[in-house]
Amino acid sequence: MNENIRPCRCLLMETGRQDIAADIKARIEKLSESEKAGSAEYAARLETCRACEHLSDGTCLKCGCYPEFRAAFAKNRCPLKKW
Ligand code: SF4
Repeated sequence: MNENIRPCRCLLMETGRQDIAADIKARIEKLSESEKAGSAEYAARLETCRACEHLSDGTCLKCGCYPEFRAAFAKNRCPLKKW
């Protein structure tokens, strides 16, 4: 393994995979207000993911999800209880 290569700690919207990012964004927009996490809560969750060692190239390696989508639901939790 090349130790000079670091995994990307980017969220999906930052990876350049615009087709998937647009699909996830559209899915989030279809959620009802009661389903959605509040905007401040959502931003805080994504900041936690951005700093997490398990985020790789837009995907959470602990649950296989796109954090932007998982964090959008008020009821969802991080699999490691970081949020
Ligand atoms: S959901 Fe949890 S484990 Fe996954 S990247 Fe975010 S903080 Fe890390």
